Amino acid sequence: MTTTTPVIPIKSSSEPAHVIAPDATTIFSLRAERFEQLAAGHSLGDWLRFLAAITHAQHQALQSLPAPALPDAAQLARAREHRMPLLPAQSWPRGAAWRDVLQQIAAAVSGVAPQAARQDLARLAGFDAERLEALAERVLHTELYGEDAALLPYVAAALQVLWTAGAARLGIDEIKALDVPGVCPCCGFLPVASVVRNSGEVSNLRYLHCALCNTEWNLVRVKCAACDANDGISYRHLETAGGPAADAVRAETCESCKSYLKIVYQEKAPVDPVADDLATLALDILVDEAGYARCGPNLLLVPGG
Ligand SMILES: [Zn+2]
Ligand SMILES: [Zn+2]
Repeated sequence: MTTTTPVIPIKSSSEPAHVIAPDATTIFSLRAERFEQLAAGHSLGDWLRFLAAITHAQHQALQSLPAPALPDAAQLARAREHRMPLLPAQSWPRGAAWRDVLQQIAAAVSGVAPQAARQDLARLAGFDAERLEALAERVLHTELYGEDAALLPYVAAALQVLWTAGAARLGIDEIKALDVPGVCPCCGFLPVASVVRNSGEVSNLRYLHCALCNTEWNLVRVKCAACDANDGISYRHLETAGGPAADAVRAETCESCKSYLKIVYQEKAPVDPVADDLATLALDILVDEAGYARCGPNLLLVPGG
């Protein structure tokens, strides 16, 4: 009898990155392109095209945003020592720049906004700094329901620009993985979805993608992002009529905590975790009806809207 020894692949000299910081020059422009692509022939095409306009406005605002002040070296070292996020969503001093970003985004999209959105933008324009900051606090504490919930996606879009600028400026040398695998190592926020990458040394690896700052961090495949369980994980996707996005997007459901998060596959399409998530809301309805609750928000969506 002969036995064959399994071939053990030689490890590449450089370990795959645990964290991928966003590229400020492309993150929102590629997302805007993907929204445009997904809008074609989609039953929610008008809405997806409007989101493309918002995302394009985020790109432009980010290119002209003054570099945000980062924590100093001692503060960064302390955060790392205690395994804490570096730009925590709930306590990083965010300054006033995000409100300028909000104005820029509103000005850029008001001409193409649907009627209801135009009214929301007009209301936002009448808010003073105190009311805007109160809306920002709700976004950053993921309190996305209640009065004025329709205004929160615009506020979130502006905050995403600021936090993405901060994350990009820190870069992968500064952002280290945390002990808690389900939250962003840069800002402590929740993931919007996860991405299975298909290029270079990160090929076939899965990364959670931050809903706020666009940082990605590695999580092994077949593991719940909310409770860490490895057992009872399964995948659902839309069988039909979902367009080209459907096959590239699955919902990863967990029997232990009855939560789910979507997973997008780069090998199947030029996916974007935020855009492809919103183009597959039918999948959310499917898993919601099966009894699973989503474990990370998409900040461009008004829940129940
Ligand atoms: Zn983050
Ligand atoms: Zn779970």
